[in-house]
Amino acid sequence: PIVEANPAIDGPEEGSVPPSDDSVKVVVRIRPDQEKVGRRIVQRITSDTLSIGDQTYSFDSILDSGSSQEDVFNLIGIPLVKNSLSGFNNSIVCYGQSGTGKTYTMWGPPSAMVDGQCLNSSQGIVPRIFQMLFSEINKKEASSEEVQTNYQCRCSFFEIYNEQMNDLLDPTQRNLLVRDETEGSFQVENLSEEYVNTVEDVTQLLVKGLSNRKVGATNVNSKSSRSHVIFTCVIESWCKGLSSKFFSSSKTSRINFVDLAGIGDNNVDGFRRQTVQEERFVKNSLSKLGRLVNILSDSTRHENDEKVPRVDSCLNNALQDTLGGNAKATFICTIFPDERYKAITLSTLRFGGRVKRMQNKAIINEI
Ligand code: ADP
Repeated sequence: PIVEANPAIDGPEEGSVPPSDDSVKVVVRIRPDQEKVGRRIVQRITSDTLSIGDQTYSFDSILDSGSSQEDVFNLIGIPLVKNSLSGFNNSIVCYGQSGTGKTYTMWGPPSAMVDGQCLNSSQGIVPRIFQMLFSEINKKEASSEEVQTNYQCRCSFFEIYNEQMNDLLDPTQRNLLVRDETEGSFQVENLSEEYVNTVEDVTQLLVKGLSNRKVGATNVNSKSSRSHVIFTCVIESWCKGLSSKFFSSSKTSRINFVDLAGIGDNNVDGFRRQTVQEERFVKNSLSKLGRLVNILSDSTRHENDEKVPRVDSCLNNALQDTLGGNAKATFICTIFPDERYKAITLSTLRFGGRVKRMQNKAIINEI
């Protein structure tokens, strides 16, 4: 039987099918098993089903170990660019165990990122999205149709490290999230934004921002385990009718790229990726994220919106659009295929199953 990867509490529900709401999608990407140390237990069965032992789990899509960065872009990036240009907010969130390829999927190796227009096969989904986005924008701005559209894009980039929000474009700006004690809410102060007109502008910001991520150990790979990173692009567009029937309208949409710190096994590859304090902060924020997703995935529990703990961590606060809010969200859950990490793999899939039960309310942001 096909069962939805899901319910932590009472086990998977047999025969259930994820709701067909496209505002939240969950894609599982299985990392290549380069070391071939453990026995492979995860098998992709169909385009949306995988098995672990005799259990079968279904999601929106399964990308197998042999999937390319281009496959990821075709599946997730192309619809995202179209939705963004139509005025919807969009988010991509990478969630999974350390070492499963979240950073690789999102940004790709830095050497591939700076490759500009020339597509390198290991380039991540973010630079690919901006190549398509600017190419579409250039086409629309050059068009001599009756309706003339102009665009302006601006980006921000921050990390959440030990429950502190730091600007990655201006490392002097730390602790940007200020609590309003009377309202009980958070306010982001002094986050820098930079205008971008070309793919090169974006890749420069990405390279600069990623190099400003918090590093505590000597091993550069461990960077991605220590902090959550969020890159945001706001796209504003103005549309004017050139004919006698003059009209104008404007739209604003946001794209959030969220690369979460690694869950679980802190000792993959035999080195400690996080200090004890870092591990505590990462675990705490991911468990608060899990709790929020649990509530949002259960319609009987979140009817009274006030009970939803949206601001109980920097991360939940930053993901308000993405989690049950005004955005189309795609979660990429990355997993190892081998039996050594079975417990964390199952927990990643359970998280993905609960995410799939959330419903967002994405609308076109027209002014
Ligand atoms: P994470 O961000 O989840 O901790 P990384 O993205 O840093 O993991 O990936 C760990 C290592 O595995 C990196 O060296 C990365 O290049 C490699 N890797 C991950 N996924 C893939 C993939 N799909 N194809 C090739 N290499 C990958």
